[in-house]
Parts: sequence; structure tokens; C-alpha cells
Amino acid sequence: MSAQAKTEPLFKKVALIGVGLIGSSLALAMRRHGLAGRIVGCTRSAESRAKVLELGLADEATQDPAAAAEGADLVVVCTPIGTYEDIGRAIAPKLRPGDIVTDVGSVKQAVIRDLGPFIPDGAHFVPGHPIAGTEHSGPEAGFATLFENRWCILTPPPGTDAGAVEKVTALWQACGAMVTAMEARHHDQVLAITSHLPHLIAYTIVSTADDVESSLQSEVARFSAGGFRDFTRIAASDPIMWRDVFLNNREAVLEMLQRFSEDLTALQRAIRWGEGDVLEDMFRRTRAARQRVLEEHQAGTFDPREPGAPK
Ligand code: NAP
Repeated sequence: MSAQAKTEPLFKKVALIGVGLIGSSLALAMRRHGLAGRIVGCTRSAESRAKVLELGLADEATQDPAAAAEGADLVVVCTPIGTYEDIGRAIAPKLRPGDIVTDVGSVKQAVIRDLGPFIPDGAHFVPGHPIAGTEHSGPEAGFATLFENRWCILTPPPGTDAGAVEKVTALWQACGAMVTAMEARHHDQVLAITSHLPHLIAYTIVSTADDVESSLQSEVARFSAGGFRDFTRIAASDPIMWRDVFLNNREAVLEMLQRFSEDLTALQRAIRWGEGDVLEDMFRRTRAARQRVLEEHQAGTFDPREPGAPK
């Protein structure tokens, strides 16, 4: 036998249920780093399945989650959160002792509620959330470096098999991510302020500007460089995915929204009463917050295909 015996991949067969931005990026990263013996992709539409095969994202494509999960030692659910319960019901009979189910959903308590009950005894469930993304969707949106130097948060419920958590950790680390573990409720609160509320605000601003544009025949699009453009990028994010995020992280989002409205009202008052020092103080604090984000290297995700992106 040669001294350079080929190392075994981390997983023999990986079922990717959903091969959109996140699923396709994971497929490309797993291929690049030799983490999966075989990959089976599951999508709803025939067009997506054709793309998955054309782009070499999976060895097989199916529309049936149960067929994808059959014989897979790792199942990764990468669909919008509203689909999880049906997917859980479909894959449950195919899961064997020792198989691992994980996911990438942006909300974690709802995922544990919807998918958890379908995981049979002996199989392991390790919910996860890579904090990485772009505003693009579908199998063509993915790129292998999406997770590099990004956090991936795992939220294993108490009692989860430590070996399964270790294997899912190893998967994300091999894709270049930094992995941490957190309680699901805490995750949902943190993400409500760092991701969900900013998306809600972007959707609102762009929608308000859209109404203004049609009522005043103004030129919002032409002069959008003054800040508005960045909001339009975020507000172009997938409507179904984000509908499901808000419906499934209702409590935490409403709480953050309440705090945000109070702060907005305070700002409104400062403007009305000409309290420049209040405005200046707040803007100085937010500038310092930006600096802390930069220091954490979490300031942006660069799609390498976009013009001007760092290589
Ligand atoms: P996406 O690009 O829109 O892709 C969604 C995938 O799920 C597609 O392959 C789609 O198939 C499939 N799908 C949709 N409904 C389905 C159903 N009922 N049954 C089976 N497959 C179905 O979505 P994404 O951005 O990758 O997001 C996927 C998950 O990742 C979400 O849970 C989201 O919360 C999470 N996430 C997203 C981001 C982000 O920035 N986008 C970041 C972190 C985590 P078709 O193409 O055939 O419709």
C-alpha cells in the first residue's frame, strides 16, 4: 500500500435538502476540501435539479427528500424554515442510528420545534447556522469561499451526542468557518438584532422610497448613492426565506423592534428640539461600534464574482 493512502472523507454520503445559495456553497466547499464521498441534492423544481447537475454540485439530484436521505450519514437541511416540518416527516423513516441531521436555518428555536421531533432514537440532530450570505438565491448563487472566516453557530439541544457535534464542527471548520455553540433562544435574540431587524428596516426603507417615488415621480433610483443603495442590496434578499425568518422568530424580533422604535422616537425628538449634542453623541457611539465590527472582521461578505471584490 502506498504511503500516501487516500484519507477517508468526513462523510460517506451527504444529502443536501435544498441547494440554493447556502446549499450550493456548502456543496462547493465540501467538494473543494474532499469532505463528502457522494452528494445528493434535493430541490423542488426540475430547473434547479438540472442546474445542480450541470454545475457539478451533486452526484445525483432528486425532488424527494426521503430518497436523498436514504443511506446518507449526513443530512443538511438548507431550505426556507417554513418547509422544515414536512421535510422532517419525509426523511424520518430513512434515518438510521448514527446518522446526523443538521441544518443552516437562520432561526434556531423554531427549527428545533419543527424538525427535532422527527429525529428517531439513535440518530443525531445538531442544528446550525452559518452567519454568511449574500442577497442572491438559487444553485448558481453559491461559491466555495462563502463560509471562510465567518462564524457558524451550533445550537445542539441538551443531551446531544458529543461525537455528532464534533463531526458537524469539523465540517464547518474544514469549510473555513469559525464554530461556536450557543443556546437556541440566545441565538435567536442575538440574530434578531444583528440580522433580522436590519433586514426589516431595509425592507421598510426601500418600500417607503418606492411609494414616494411613485407618488412624487421623484428620482430615488438615480440618486441612490447617498446611503439608499446599500439598503436596496439587503432588501433584495429572498422574500420567502425572510418571510419565514420573521414568522419564526416573532418574539425576539418584536422585542428588538420595540426597543428600536423607542430609540427612533428619541432621535425624532432630538431633531425636533434641535438637540445637536444628542445626535452627535449617538453618531459617535455608532462610529465606535463600526470599528468594533471591523476589528471582528465581520464587515462584509464578498462574492468573488462581483466586480471589485477582493480575491
Ligand atoms: P435559496 O437560495 O432560496 O434556496 C432554497 C432552496 O430550497 C432551493 O434549492 C429550493 O428549491 C429549496 N426549496 C424551497 N422550498 C422547498 C420545499 N418545500 N421542499 C424542498 N426544497 C425546497 O435559499 P438560501 O438563501 O440558500 O437559504 C436556505 C436556508 O439557509 C434558509 O433556511 C435560510 O434561513 C438559511 N440561511 C440563509 C442565508 C442567506 O443569506 N441567504 C444565510 C444563512 C442561513 P427550488 O430551487 O427548486 O425552489
